[in-house]
Amino acid sequence: MQQHFDKDSAHIDHPENDPAYQGLKVNRGIKAPPIINPYFKPRKRRRYTTDEYVAGILEGNVSLLSQAVTLIESTLASDRHMAQEIIEKCLPHSGNSMRIGITGVPGSGKSTSIDTFGMHLIKQGHKLAVLAIDPTSEVSGGSILGDKTRMEALSREKNAFIRPSPAGDSLGGVARKTRETIILCEAAGFDTIFVETVGVGQSETAVHSMVDFFLLIQLAGTGDELQGIKRGIMEMADGIIINKADGDNIDKAKLAASHFRNALQLFPATESGWEPKVLTYSGYYAIGIKDIFDMIDQYRHFTVDRGFFDLKRQRQAKWWMYETINDTLKNSFYEDERVKALQQEIEECILQDRITPFKGAQKLLDTYYQALRQDARK
Ligand code: GDP
Repeated sequence: MQQHFDKDSAHIDHPENDPAYQGLKVNRGIKAPPIINPYFKPRKRRRYTTDEYVAGILEGNVSLLSQAVTLIESTLASDRHMAQEIIEKCLPHSGNSMRIGITGVPGSGKSTSIDTFGMHLIKQGHKLAVLAIDPTSEVSGGSILGDKTRMEALSREKNAFIRPSPAGDSLGGVARKTRETIILCEAAGFDTIFVETVGVGQSETAVHSMVDFFLLIQLAGTGDELQGIKRGIMEMADGIIINKADGDNIDKAKLAASHFRNALQLFPATESGWEPKVLTYSGYYAIGIKDIFDMIDQYRHFTVDRGFFDLKRQRQAKWWMYETINDTLKNSFYEDERVKALQQEIEECILQDRITPFKGAQKLLDTYYQALRQDARK
């Protein structure tokens, strides 16, 4: 039908221009409810004393344990101070656990496996803490590891304590918080600690320096079996486990296992004398789980008998002391206002070839030392 677009007649021809038209009626609205619940009262968390926290943790009170971990993760100086006191008091009660690092690329089945491993241990009467170091949380602020929703069965168990990766400004900071959390978990009676991480970054070194046994999850059937995982990570592994050995994948998993065994032959002997083992399993169908924990037990006996177990822990403790010193010094340097004020100028001088990088570094360090002396005189 031909429409009339004649200016004068348009207002009449269009049905919506008819005053009697009721096609669209706007009702008087009701006021939108507030998006924040007006009855909501933020729950005031009772502050406990250091001794109350310690006593609660030693009794295995998970709620207090959890709150103490929050203090460790806090950015408030007063919280951190209190956390340090709690850690110190818990330290004599810690150490009685098997600390197991679990790594694997995303999709390798870490969460499925941890769920299954955890249920296996809990059925045997163990108490398990699952912690995580997630390097991506530095960027995203959130965490993908150690997430309860990924460990369905385990998250319902009262003998399992699951804590996602702390968010933090540096990997070193995040890792230190996890290490401190291990101490509290042990004091609370958790005899097995899993520290989960993704097998793609530097976080493995941090995890390796806080666990007794390092477990690497791998997959079969991805073409070149050794691809996607750094040689360094394989070298750290005390056990390599090939996941998804179920259904049609069993043969491929076995083949991958033999590839890994061959590859391991080329690595230098480990200091402890332990020969890393390669096993196949299915995290989803819970096949081969007992063998994995038999291997870990075997490792424990092997290294305890040779004195290596304690030696490794002592070295780790020393490593953490130096790590902490390095981190603290670095932060103190880069956060100093006087250093910050000069930094850009020195950088520009270097870019314009007016001074060498070494001279530039010396200038900044001198400024820092001078600032320290000034502060000391105050
Ligand atoms: P993550 O990213 O390493 O934590 O891996 P997930 O545990 O989320 O597993 C990734 C995918 O692999 C999921 O779809 C799982 O269902 C699947 N998966 C995990 N373990 C197994 C297994 O043992 N067998 C098979 N067939 N699939 C598995």
